[in-house]
This record gives sequence, C-alpha cells and structure tokens, in this order.
Amino acid sequence: ARPHRHLVYPTGTASRRHKHNPAIRIMQWNILAQALGEGKDGFIRCPVDALNWQERKYLIMEEILTYRPDILCLQEVDHYYDTFQPILASLGYQGSFLAKPWSPCLDVEQNNGPDGCALFYRRSRFSLQATAHLRLSAMMLPTNQVAIVQTLICQVTGQRLCVAVTHLKARSGWERLRSAQGADLLQSLRSITSQSSSSQTEAAPGTVPLVVCGDFNAEPSEDVYRRFSSSALGLNSAYKLLSSDGQTEPAYTTWKIRPSGESCSTLDYIWYTHDALSVDCLLDIPTEEQIGPDRLPSYHYPSDHLSLLCDISFREEPHRLM
Ligand code: NDP
Ligand code: CA
Repeated sequence: ARPHRHLVYPTGTASRRHKHNPAIRIMQWNILAQALGEGKDGFIRCPVDALNWQERKYLIMEEILTYRPDILCLQEVDHYYDTFQPILASLGYQGSFLAKPWSPCLDVEQNNGPDGCALFYRRSRFSLQATAHLRLSAMMLPTNQVAIVQTLICQVTGQRLCVAVTHLKARSGWERLRSAQGADLLQSLRSITSQSSSSQTEAAPGTVPLVVCGDFNAEPSEDVYRRFSSSALGLNSAYKLLSSDGQTEPAYTTWKIRPSGESCSTLDYIWYTHDALSVDCLLDIPTEEQIGPDRLPSYHYPSDHLSLLCDISFREEPHRLM
C-alpha cells in the first residue's frame, strides 16, 4: 500500500468556520503527461510498468478521489477528453482544458494529443461566473505556456473566488522567461479580479479573493517567485505554512532521476490572497524514505511531481468583525 499522507493543521491558522460555509479543498498537481513520461523524460530508475497508462491513470484518479478536492488544478494533462473530463464529470465536477500551443507531447510517436492545464470545480459547490483562457506572453511576445483563470461563485454564500492554473516554462537557463510569464499572468489576474468584483459584496472593495495553482518550474530563489510573493495582489504561498517557522517552502515537490542526474526541487505552489483567505490545513509531503531510493514516479507515486492539497476558508469579512 502506498504511504499515507497526513493533513497538518498549522498552529495559529485556525479560522472561525461556519457550518454552512465549510473550507474549500484545493489540489494542485502536475500529473506527468503520458507521452512525456514514456517518450521524453528518461526516468531511468522508474520501472517501465509504473509508466503504463492503463494502470497509472487509476493511481492518479485514486489520489484525486481520496481527497475529493472542491477545486482541482492539473498540469501536463494529455488525457483530458478520453479520461479526466468524462470520469470527473460523472463525479460532479465541471472541467476546463487549455492545451499548450506547441505541446512537446506532439513530438512523441503515438501521442494522445497535446498536453495542457486543466481546472475542475465541484458543481454542487460553485457556479461559474467567467473563464479566461490565456496564452502567456513574455516581453510582449507569445510563448508556449498557458493559464486558465475562472471566477467562481460559492453556491451557499454567494462569495466569489478567482482560481488560476498555470505551468511555466521548464529548464534552467529560462529564468527570465519564467519571470516575464509570471509578470504577464499577474497583470491578467489583477485585471480579472478587479473587473469581476462588485463594490457591494467584497471584503476589500474592488478585488475578488484569488487562488493560483501551478507548476512554476522555479525554485523559491527565482525571480518569478519573488514577483508572486511581493505582488500588489497580496499573495502568500500556502505550503510555507507546513514549516515550523511558517516562512519556508518544502524541500521538494518533485524528485526524479534522469540520465543527467538526480533532480530534487520545489517547483509547485498554491498561492492565495492572505487578507481574504486563510489556510486551515495542508497535506504533508512524503519523506525521503517514503519516496524511496528510485525517487519518482514509482508504483506508489504516479507522477514525478507530488500533489499539493490544502483547505482554504474565507476570513471573516471586516464589517462583521466590527
Ligand atoms: P518546456 O521546456 O517548458 O518543457 C516541456 C516539458 O518537458 C515540461 O512538461 C517539463 O516538465 C519537461 N521537462 C523538463 N525538463 C526536462 C528534461 N530535462 N528532460 C525531459 N523533459 C523535461 O517546453 P516548451 O513548452 O518550451 O516546449 C518545448 C517543446 O515544444 C519543444 O521540445 C518542441 O517539441 C515543441 N515546440 C514545437 C514547435 C513547433 O514549431 N513544432 C515550436 C515550439 C516548441 P516539468 O514542467 O515537469 O519540469
Ligand atoms: Ca514534466
């Protein structure tokens, strides 16, 4: 059996929650495109059978259904139409998919189409106000990376939540491109969260609370991380709250061995508006022992990236505290 991951409740983050307003569970996961895993990545220590789609898809679905997130943000999805959309639709989710313009999956023989980002929300929990499909730019030029942004309305409270999913350019040497893509995404998010707010109902007039999930392909030391943590949108990275000081990202969110060597890094994030939202709990990160000597993916972990999961609630609105 695969190692159990615990939900961790950071101290000092408990929010007053209402029976009728339960927390919103958010999952972020780069699930590893099937075509890339078999055809391009070169995971030399991963057993070939662990990459077989007919089995791997059940491990991915099992992980999603174990936690039943209200919002599910995925990258490297190259089986949207034949797998995730139909299965998750039958389980009450509404999905949206945006392919990369020139997906590297298309270079792989017998590919299943381009990979891209997918965003799912639970239909019983939210209705949809607006969707934006973005192709990210860098220095005014279009790039091969995309983002989906949706403004959702909570069915119970009418509160709005803006959710974004993205997958920035990979590899070292591309730090400046990632930073520019991040700047472009932040600019779009500023515009979307201010447009879709109505002056009467929001805690902070003019802005809708925001959650941004992504494989940023950037360590916390990179410029794009600094851009997100210091933007005018007031974003904090949820997984810092797993650390004892609340200030440190996990040691890794992906860990793999390629012919070029071992790569253990923190690339995936869940950003949230800290003035309007609070994190109740997070799914812990498996230990090095649980991951095992051959690293990821494996029979236990179907992707080279770990899923991130947290429960987020709306903070009490200021006028109710007065
Ligand atoms: P990226 O550099 O962003 O990487 C694409 C994928 O490769 C990511 O999913 C990434 O995974 C994975 N990856 C990262 N590092 C490695 C590695 N060392 N070995 C193998 N895979 C890795 O790709 P782009 O979006 O910039 O696309 C580049 C590709 O797009 C080209 O290779 C080409 O195939 C295609 N292309 C085609 C064009 C055309 O005209 N036909 C034009 C432009 C691009 P992760 O995020 O998990 O790290
Ligand atoms: Ca990948």
